[in-house]
Amino acid sequence: MGNNQKKQNKKGLKTIAIHHGKSYADETGCVMPPIFATSTFEHGNKANFDYTRSGNPNFSILENVLKGIENSNYCTVFNSGISAVTAIVSSLKSGDTILCESNLYGCTIRMFEKIFRKFGIQTSYFDFTNKEYIQQISKVKPSLIWLESPTNPLLKILNIKEICSEANFRKIPVVVDNTFCTAVIQKPLELGATLSLISTTKFINGHSDALGGAVITNDESWNNKMIFSQKSLGLNPSPFDCWLITRGLKTLPLRIAQQTENAHFIANELNSHKLIDQLIYPFNKNHPQYELAKSQMKIGGSMITLKLKLNKNETFNFCKKLEYFSLAESLGGVESLICHPTTMSHASVDEAVKNTLGINDSLVRLSIGCEDAKDLLSDLLLALDSF
Ligand SMILES: *Cc1c(COP(=O)(O)O)cnc(C)c1O
Repeated sequence: MGNNQKKQNKKGLKTIAIHHGKSYADETGCVMPPIFATSTFEHGNKANFDYTRSGNPNFSILENVLKGIENSNYCTVFNSGISAVTAIVSSLKSGDTILCESNLYGCTIRMFEKIFRKFGIQTSYFDFTNKEYIQQISKVKPSLIWLESPTNPLLKILNIKEICSEANFRKIPVVVDNTFCTAVIQKPLELGATLSLISTTKFINGHSDALGGAVITNDESWNNKMIFSQKSLGLNPSPFDCWLITRGLKTLPLRIAQQTENAHFIANELNSHKLIDQLIYPFNKNHPQYELAKSQMKIGGSMITLKLKLNKNETFNFCKKLEYFSLAESLGGVESLICHPTTMSHASVDEAVKNTLGINDSLVRLSIGCEDAKDLLSDLLLALDSF
């Protein structure tokens, strides 16, 4: 196993993403793995499977590919990104505090505040682009630090390596929600994080037809906690969803490359449009953390946030006018999407909190897909020019 892992790690991401799962196909020679639609396994089987709530060949195949692309030792898959969050938080105990980046995914905050707070888990929020986070760590004495970079939807970049080094020095584990990047763009564990969390619903699957999540780590004790949460809380995915996600994952490096190329083109073309107050894209030279983004991320990704010079109604109408961008939650698929965070992904976040973060009614978030960039651009320009 150890040797296999080392050999595999020398391969490129595209090769790892495509070549996997053969270990369950030895007897039949099938090129694609079957769907192991079974809830239970005969006792004493060679692969040591037991009951699908705690493992299934389709989970293992997906976990192997995710471990491969992250260059890590362990991975546990879940039925959604939010289940992956549940798995981690439920490993804490009453009285523990999570120190969170202030601009986290809305449903992560909702879970912390509306569910786990009742069970005694505390939270504290801080803007981790502010160096005083170091004093905040000493003050709060967290059991866990929770980061996202780029953040959603403002695409703020945090210095993951530096924060992890401060945290590791104090023996505090760091979770990085890497959903917006995936291992193709940044590898949190290599930057010092203890846990890399991912909603496989988004870029990893890439085809908007299944939900999933995963936690990736090199820490054996954390991995045991993830396996325990999966079976004890019933957070397991279905074999069919794992099969779909594994299939989608094969083209992840190709999709992200194309989506990023499209996003660069659109960001450049729209940058100085008269109806756009601010265009936020990590690899845009006017992004306040452009240098950090360049050093931390391999490529700029395919998420662009626009602050429009339009009011709430006009902004909503702009979204509705687009032909190729569906107004929908989610991101990272081959099809382009547009999201209006104040009424959608961040609807559950306090009004006052949204205001302090700068998430207002004129803000839209684009997830650029794999369509022809020129068609996406003319779609956006046509809608903008109607105002
Ligand atoms: C979507 C998302 C999640 C939650 O994942 P689901 O698969 O929808 O449960 C968590 N974090 C981020 C950053 C996301 O975009």
